[in-house]
Amino acid sequence: MNLEHHGERRVDLTVTDLKQWAYCARIPYYHHVMPVEFARTYKMERGRDVEAAVQALEKRRGLRRYGLDRGERRFGVWLHSASLELAGKLDLLIVTQDAAYPVDFKDTEGGVRYNHRIQLAAYAMIVEEVLALAVPITFVYLVPSRQLVRVAIGDKERAEVIRAVGEMRRVILGEDMPDPTPVRARCTACEFRNYCADIW
Ligand code: SF4
Repeated sequence: MNLEHHGERRVDLTVTDLKQWAYCARIPYYHHVMPVEFARTYKMERGRDVEAAVQALEKRRGLRRYGLDRGERRFGVWLHSASLELAGKLDLLIVTQDAAYPVDFKDTEGGVRYNHRIQLAAYAMIVEEVLALAVPITFVYLVPSRQLVRVAIGDKERAEVIRAVGEMRRVILGEDMPDPTPVRARCTACEFRNYCADIW
C-alpha cells in the first residue's frame, strides 16, 4: 500500500512482498502500483488451513528436533523493522534466553528454494533488530514431507535483502514496471497473467 507521509510518498513493504519479488518482480509491483483486486485463490485458503494444522501439531512436540532443550514458542508473530521499513508475520519464533530461531511453514514440494531463503534472511534480520537477540540458524518446515530443514543465513543473503528491498521500493515509487520473470512456467498459474500482455 502506498501512503502519503509528510508530503512524501511512502511504501509499506512486507516480507511476503520480498518473497514474491524473488519469484517474479512484477507481482509486488502489481500489488502496490496497480489498482488490482485479485481473487482469494485456493492456494491462499489452503495456506491458512495448513498453518492451523501445523500449529496444532507443533504445540504437541518437543524442541529437540530444533537442537534445543528449552525455549518459548511464539506462533504468528507480527514483526516490523524500522531500519528496513519492512513488516511480516512469522509462522513460529522460538525464543531462548540469548537467541531466537525463526521457523517458516511451507506447503511445498521440491525443498527449500531461493525465495524461501531470502524470506528467512529478512525475518532473521528483523528479529535481530526488534528483539536484540542473535539468530544462529533459521528453519523451514516442509509440510508435505514433514521435514525440518536448517537454513543458515550469511552475509550474502543479508546483502540481498537490503538490495532487494531498496530496488523494490524504487520501482514501486517510480512506477517503473520490472521485467517479467525469465521462468515462464510461473506465469501459467499466476493471478496477474492478464496484466502481462507483453509475455504471451
Ligand atoms: S504472469 Fe508471469 S511475468 Fe506476469 S506477474 Fe505473473 S509470474 Fe510475473
